[in-house]
Amino acid sequence: MDAVNPDESKPQPSGSPEVWSNGRAALCNAVESYFNSHQGSQYACKGKLYGLLIDKYACHRDMVKSQIIITNVGGGRKLDSTTGQMARTQNQDDACSQLKVLRAALNNRDVIVVISGSQYPYFPVVIPHTYNVLDHFIITDLWPEKDGKNISHWKIRLEKFDLQSVSWWTPHGEEDREQFNAGQYICEAQMCPTCETESKIIFQQGWICLNNKCEEFFRCESGADVDKLTYDEKFVNERSHRVGPLEPVPLVPALPNAEGGDFGTEKKFKMGMVCPKCRCCSRRMHWKGWECENPDCDFTHTVQLREVPAANAVKEEQQGKRIKASSYNEKLVGRWDLKIAGYDVEAYSFPGKDGQVVGSVFVYRATSDIRSKVNGPDDLYRAMQKEDLRLKRNPARNPGARVEQLTNHFSSNWGAFYKFGVLVETNGFAEAPEPILRGQAQLDWAHKETISAMKELFEAEEIEYCEDSMTLEPHTFNELLSLGYFESCVINYHDDGEKELGPTVATLSLGSPSIMNFAPKSSSGIGKKTKGKYGPAVLSFPLNHGDIVVMHGSMIHKHYVHSVKPAGKLRFALTCRYIRPETIHDPKARAEAIEKGKIPEGIEQLAYKGTDEPGQNLNLDDNSRGNDQ
Ligand SMILES: [Zn+2]
Ligand SMILES: [Zn+2]
Ligand SMILES: [Zn+2]
Repeated sequence: MDAVNPDESKPQPSGSPEVWSNGRAALCNAVESYFNSHQGSQYACKGKLYGLLIDKYACHRDMVKSQIIITNVGGGRKLDSTTGQMARTQNQDDACSQLKVLRAALNNRDVIVVISGSQYPYFPVVIPHTYNVLDHFIITDLWPEKDGKNISHWKIRLEKFDLQSVSWWTPHGEEDREQFNAGQYICEAQMCPTCETESKIIFQQGWICLNNKCEEFFRCESGADVDKLTYDEKFVNERSHRVGPLEPVPLVPALPNAEGGDFGTEKKFKMGMVCPKCRCCSRRMHWKGWECENPDCDFTHTVQLREVPAANAVKEEQQGKRIKASSYNEKLVGRWDLKIAGYDVEAYSFPGKDGQVVGSVFVYRATSDIRSKVNGPDDLYRAMQKEDLRLKRNPARNPGARVEQLTNHFSSNWGAFYKFGVLVETNGFAEAPEPILRGQAQLDWAHKETISAMKELFEAEEIEYCEDSMTLEPHTFNELLSLGYFESCVINYHDDGEKELGPTVATLSLGSPSIMNFAPKSSSGIGKKTKGKYGPAVLSFPLNHGDIVVMHGSMIHKHYVHSVKPAGKLRFALTCRYIRPETIHDPKARAEAIEKGKIPEGIEQLAYKGTDEPGQNLNLDDNSRGNDQ
């Protein structure tokens, strides 16, 4: 976390914030009802303003007093190449979205929440945290000003909603200072003789027309330098009357709790919490629940997960407007329908730039019969929900920074370790709970089946394939990534290509349905030319409870990306790969990876390996193959 730089010359605050955070994502997750804006200084939803952040970009005459704030309207700054600073180089647009939202909040007298960042230079006291919730405010004035370079921008004045309480940011020992009531000061307005509109007398140096359409705009009668103007005491100390209906959202939201029909995996349970003990904003990092992100606090909160029955996933499959059948670009992708050990298997081939096959995707379809088999998908889904799989959300971007972002999903790594420098723990297979080992065994089985079916298929169909990419060698998987998805966890386009990995990636999908898409990268020169990073999808298919996807070919990751878009309450995915120990240079790390990737003996028996009846190919009659299991 970025350390807060305490300015020792400033006085101590008289209180402490009701809500605070040292990270932006934690703040947004915990107080999403009034500030869910990962960038920018305003949070608005459907045109209504809920929260405002004041931070680094303060300007001339901005101020934070016990009951009022005067600040500038954000946006419109550009990087000045000579100073390296963000600066305004042109007049702020009167019609910009920020102003639109502020005008609406002013006219409706909406109650909003103001937050101060630690980089705000004019904070009146030592600022305690990176983000500090101040209080509820209403906007009282919105007007344009001009700076010494003749560039105009907008300013905004806010008044604290509750004028009776002492603000925590009031300097300690000066709790009575700057406390005023409505009617004590009145800031008069004056008519402009040129444009005939009224402007308040906001400056000590005299009245100025604040209509930026007027010729006399911001021209000071006394001839004073506009950069040296100061706000008039009456303008600063004026307090407006509170008129209803005004209902502020609570600063401290209630802790997430399950009600009625909740499973505990609904979207709302991914939100953060405000710790009731220390008021620190904390993200939902763990499958099990929330842990306060303040290292000095030990508060934890859990919501008991209710078991999602496998039947629920089947119901979700049938609901909604989701695609029910696979679709693919016939000009590029080849398709064959096979039968392997009772599974209907869709086999797809992917071309490289020259048309030669560089990769394949085999999709094993679990029927309701397969799903209900002993050790089959239903059993495994139930077991995964009971077991502690050590699932947590890891940093996806900017690890450790105040703008750190977590992955959408929860995950844990098992077996060989290879991603050095990434904050992900790996647990050896020796300490893995049974569902993890069962998943490894089933995927290992599917991998071997796929390779032998592929060899037969390529021979029978005389398919030319790139041998550098597709080794058609089954390695025993030595790594498993276990993923847990709450409601609405999308995995955007990415590839799984890393030099440490063998050419096969196999995934078992359990629970809620999803759609998997494959698209060529624009850099590959495959398919239609597009302006974006990826072309349109060349293969899309539903991925349902118990289905297995086996991807083979290292080049498939060079030329294509894939994404997973789930629907429903709870999905698990178990993904197996082979990490090539010879690519790990450090001998100690290599030895550790080999040790952790060792599969405990006897686990093959845990795997569900399809039906006992001999399988046969659907459309390759003369090449029907027996089931060797
Ligand atoms: Zn005027
Ligand atoms: Zn706490
Ligand atoms: Zn992937």
